[in-house]
Amino acid sequence: MRWFDTHCHLDRLPAEVAVDMVLQRAVAAGVRRILVPGVAGAVQVPAAVSVAENIKIATAWGVHPDFVAAANGQIGAIPDWKNGHTPVAIGECGLDRRLALSIDRQEEVFGWQLQIARAYDLPVIVHLVGHGQRALQMLQSAALSRGFIIHSYSGSPEMAAEFVAAGGFVSLSAASLRNREKLQKMLALVPLSRLLLETDAPDMPLPGWSEKYNEPAAVAAIGAQVAEICGLPVEKLAEVVYTNALRIFALKDE
Ligand SMILES: [Zn+2]
Repeated sequence: MRWFDTHCHLDRLPAEVAVDMVLQRAVAAGVRRILVPGVAGAVQVPAAVSVAENIKIATAWGVHPDFVAAANGQIGAIPDWKNGHTPVAIGECGLDRRLALSIDRQEEVFGWQLQIARAYDLPVIVHLVGHGQRALQMLQSAALSRGFIIHSYSGSPEMAAEFVAAGGFVSLSAASLRNREKLQKMLALVPLSRLLLETDAPDMPLPGWSEKYNEPAAVAAIGAQVAEICGLPVEKLAEVVYTNALRIFALKDE
């Protein structure tokens, strides 16, 4: 069995956490790939990660709405990536009703990143808290040929179906498992071919997780619970969501 953690902030683990141990536990749990999203532009992958064997790391480039001030100098222009150094996705970017940053400014920064995704023909990793209809409109009018991911989805089943109809994938985390009944309804509306799994580590540990912080190894436990809710053998679920992730990020199966 192999797992793909499609949203893990390996570059933002607390200083007390040993990245090499985190990766060892991930490999032992069957994690073969990790996507590290950007929050303030480019991702600086720790040295232990770049030398890790048996696990492949991909990165995305993005400005999270909570990091707009930190990324200020970069906002507005289309970045100039040299060939071979283009990230596999844009994000995480989006809208968040909890933040003090005005919704107008959030929309401006999100809209700019949708333009970058179009310019480079990349999928988008969307961070969304509230503002579902507004985000849906923006994603629909951006008409992204590579689609998008709503990460750590815990919204309504109906809204998930609308995102899927607009070309989206729904990524499930420990947050998605908090309300089993809602998740079950959502899984009845969203085809398996549009599901992904993630930990969002170091945030959002699963209840009962033994480490102090969340980490990519937890994707196997999240997958086991999702498989149970879907009524599928865990091996089958693991393989489907793994190949879904390869497909949206256009990664070779190697
Ligand atoms: Zn995140």
